[in-house]
Amino acid sequence: MIDVGGRAERIRSRFEGIEALIVGDLSNVRWLTGFTGSNGWVVLGPDSLVLVTDGRYGEQAAAQLDAAGGRGRIRVETNGPALLRAVAEETGTFAATGFEATHLTVAQHGALQDAGCTNLRATTGLVEAGRRTKDDAEIRRIARACAIADQALAEIAPTLTPGRTEAEVRNDLELRMRQLGASGPSYDTIVATGPVNGALPHHRPDDTPLADGHLVVIDVGALVDGYHSDMTRTFCVGRPTAEQQDRYELVLAAQLAGLAAIRPGVAGRDVDAASRGVIAAAGYGEWFTHGTGHGVGLVIHEDPFNTASSNDVLQVGDVVTVEPGVYRGGFGGIRVEDLVVVTSDGCRVLTTSPKDSLCPPSPPTT
Ligand code: ZN
Ligand code: ZN
Repeated sequence: MIDVGGRAERIRSRFEGIEALIVGDLSNVRWLTGFTGSNGWVVLGPDSLVLVTDGRYGEQAAAQLDAAGGRGRIRVETNGPALLRAVAEETGTFAATGFEATHLTVAQHGALQDAGCTNLRATTGLVEAGRRTKDDAEIRRIARACAIADQALAEIAPTLTPGRTEAEVRNDLELRMRQLGASGPSYDTIVATGPVNGALPHHRPDDTPLADGHLVVIDVGALVDGYHSDMTRTFCVGRPTAEQQDRYELVLAAQLAGLAAIRPGVAGRDVDAASRGVIAAAGYGEWFTHGTGHGVGLVIHEDPFNTASSNDVLQVGDVVTVEPGVYRGGFGGIRVEDLVVVTSDGCRVLTTSPKDSLCPPSPPTT
């Protein structure tokens, strides 16, 4: 069980200039209450928590809040406008109420004001800042999601043979992850092969067949109990050329440098610099077209970020990716990505699929 007790207090301790906070982002609502429904708001007061939802979810909300060890009152309304009026009503006694500026729509903001909530103050990232530090129960779920993706990839990688299509490989991976206990893929699985598709970091698998000598980038994660995993491996169908092999070893060295840089107190941008520096020094800086990593949890891309523009500093309990890559039309792509949890003396790597070779593994013997 995920214990949400204490989380509300952690967020209250971050209040500045507000007495209460309206939480409408569903991942934030879930983190605070355990509630997994598709419609809900939390009004977090100085010593109160009210979860407002609609008639489909009244009993579920009460049961989930209780099971997660949360304390609060459930309020059930009939439709969207009524929910917002109820949220406004619940904030009536507070001098200033924060809202989530990156999640509340302009229309919802107007509706809250129309309903009498005239003391609204914009806030950003209050719940996200609490959410980024994972507790043991959360890390266990993420590790389970990693293990499922590892297992699925171990079984499917030996089938990377000429003629199979990207979409078939994607379908096999996603079905196998569900069979292994995932509630689904963590995101749309990426299978990107050859000199055209492989050059697109977020290519959507299509009916392109794998071909002898082509690289295949596979970015795959599982979803367990709302928690995501994220991993990328690159394989070569058949024997790699010396050029493919050299560039693979470069990306792998960059990825290992990024992993080695991770420990509490290190800036996310320095993790990015550690990976990027290796690739740039070899003359491929322009081929590395995205950030080195991101946090992963209830959302697949969340705080903190290992990017050149990041102001985040890593802390114990952060779960982040390290995923350098190189991409070029006419060549294709190479990416290696692991998911790690930051520990007091560095990090623990949660994704364990082999990455020492471009050659797909042999079929598992067990
Ligand atoms: Zn990924
Ligand atoms: Zn990622």
